[in-house]
Amino acid sequence: MARAAVPLRHHMVKQLADQLDLSFPKKSPAVYVHEGARQVLARRLEQVGRMPVALSITDNRHSMIHATRREGILRVRLHHMFLDAPVAVVDALARFLIFRDREASGIVGRYIDVHATRIRPLESTHTRTLTSDGVVHDLKAIYDDLNETYFDGEVDARICWGTEATRKGKRRTTIKLGSYTAQERLIRLHPRLDQAYVPRYFIAFVVYHEMLHHVMPATRVAGRRILHPAEFRAREREYRHYEKAIAWEKAHIDRLLK
Ligand SMILES: [Zn+2]
Repeated sequence: MARAAVPLRHHMVKQLADQLDLSFPKKSPAVYVHEGARQVLARRLEQVGRMPVALSITDNRHSMIHATRREGILRVRLHHMFLDAPVAVVDALARFLIFRDREASGIVGRYIDVHATRIRPLESTHTRTLTSDGVVHDLKAIYDDLNETYFDGEVDARICWGTEATRKGKRRTTIKLGSYTAQERLIRLHPRLDQAYVPRYFIAFVVYHEMLHHVMPATRVAGRRILHPAEFRAREREYRHYEKAIAWEKAHIDRLLK
């Protein structure tokens, strides 16, 4: 692969060069990206640079910007912080990527500095605030078992108990038992599941479902985000206690809602 034309080299403005990393991790975590915003950004880069641009959005920790030019197409990977960057920054980014404009690289570098808080933190500094060991159930142990059994140990998400949202007045009619955010690579379980009457196999089912979201990023069909395509549901049914878990949920949903 030719990686010639956009020389993000060290003699460039150091501030920016420090943020650049030309090697890309093989398994970048998935990010849910607003497709409309991605297209707007790609179009603007094309307008300013006057060349076709293939743009993908990342959640990388080290590589904020990566670009190669091949066969007349500029292939760019950008951190999601650029999705809502002001026009002036986007224009500078295009000038930097295509014309190696020095002033532009200063603008982009400053933007990255100011938005550094949006870069995913190191796990070691972050996991401390997350609790996976509940009163009754240890989520990490459940997650580790599932990871070995169903994913060859390859899932590298994080897991924690969520916190109970305060509700005013209204009776609860639905409950979100689990969630997954790609940006944080974090699985959260509803704290109401941390009770003795909730069997481990059911908690494991909720965790398994969220782990599938980690390994099967949402797709888009005709502009709609598809979270649970047929393939997802098929894998979900591979869970050993699938039928039992579904039945348990049905039988106990009222108690969970209380
Ligand atoms: Zn889901």
